[in-house]
Amino acid sequence: MSKIAVVNAGSSSVKFAIFDAADEAPTMRLRGLIEGIGAAPRVNLFGAGGETLLREDVAPEGFDHAAATRTMMRVAAPWLDGKDIAVVGHRVVHGGGRFCAPVLATAAVVDELSQFVPLAPLHQPHNLAVIRALLAEHPQLPQVACFDTAFHASQPPLAQAFAIPRQYSQAGVRRYGFHGISYQYVARRLGAVAPGLAQARVIVAHLGNGASLCAMKEGKSVATTMGFSTVDGLMMGTRCGAIDAGVLLHLMDRYGLDARRLEDLIYRESGLLGISGISSDMRTLRASSAPQAKEAIALFVYRIQREIGSLAAALGGLDAIVFTAGIGENDAATRAEVAEGCAWLGVALDDAANREARTTVSSPQSQVAVLVIPTNEELEIAQSAWRLAAR
Ligand code: ADP
Repeated sequence: MSKIAVVNAGSSSVKFAIFDAADEAPTMRLRGLIEGIGAAPRVNLFGAGGETLLREDVAPEGFDHAAATRTMMRVAAPWLDGKDIAVVGHRVVHGGGRFCAPVLATAAVVDELSQFVPLAPLHQPHNLAVIRALLAEHPQLPQVACFDTAFHASQPPLAQAFAIPRQYSQAGVRRYGFHGISYQYVARRLGAVAPGLAQARVIVAHLGNGASLCAMKEGKSVATTMGFSTVDGLMMGTRCGAIDAGVLLHLMDRYGLDARRLEDLIYRESGLLGISGISSDMRTLRASSAPQAKEAIALFVYRIQREIGSLAAALGGLDAIVFTAGIGENDAATRAEVAEGCAWLGVALDDAANREARTTVSSPQSQVAVLVIPTNEELEIAQSAWRLAAR
């Protein structure tokens, strides 16, 4: 069976997965993680059930993203059942205002995508480095870029605008939104598990280390909590979420923080970690009796409740809430606490269904359906890549 590779390149890691190709449901066979790029690189390979197949330290000298890409191809090769990889699908954070669907990543497209590096400097360069490395080594291998921003291209201009002078908006300073690959997958699954809701007014809560909400009408994004960057909107594991821009000016003036220091503060030192001083991980905080852990969770939940109100306004009402990603799928307490603050919208949970994370967790009396739909960004990329390659 032909193979599909899915790649998610970060600043110090390259995650990948190999799927057996199939039109409807590709099956994941192998997962890989190359971590510690730039420090102490290590290759890990796991089987479909999570069992470790390989652990290998790599010499750090010259081990960059291109070297990691070559290593990925080398360690994956023995597991391909003698087949070639037919297509590689990449998670690419930013498609700018230009790309609103997956696209064949030719050299010309990669050049265009490199114009968006200033819009996503923490991720875009690494995403593109892997595509470039494969273009150089395997020029015949089709590659497909799938964008975190693309799903939100359907938003009305009002939802994308900042109230700043036009020259900056025209230069691309506007709200884009992220987590779009996850939202696309969940929208599709929602159509399958609850066809009656596919055309409805839905808020999807993607609550992982990164967290955002997306308001959907008829399966299309109409508003989302992340904006120009992935730091806007909800409070997250280590990101602060929406913050008064005046606070940043104050931190610069009063404490002399520069852009790089502010970046550390708002992306890596804030959120659940910043408030608790204990951890960015929800499981650790739930297990802690420290008041700071409880405060961190309380603010996390409060911010979600507030933003649900805002997105319900953007939708002109609300028919369903869908929880997804690490916290949304696994933390019944967060779902219950969020729902409690949404009682005014007619939200009521079935406690047992919520504890067991059934697909529908709302009570029969609830005026808003509440669902849990596990996301699968890798599968979404695999399907998009295979579809595009098949054309
Ligand atoms: P990422 O954004 O990195 O993909 P995930 O979607 O895996 O993150 O979500 C990670 C978050 O999910 C962490 O805060 C983790 O504690 C939380 N999480 C995972 N499993 C559980 C669980 N069983 N109960 C509570 N929280 C969980």
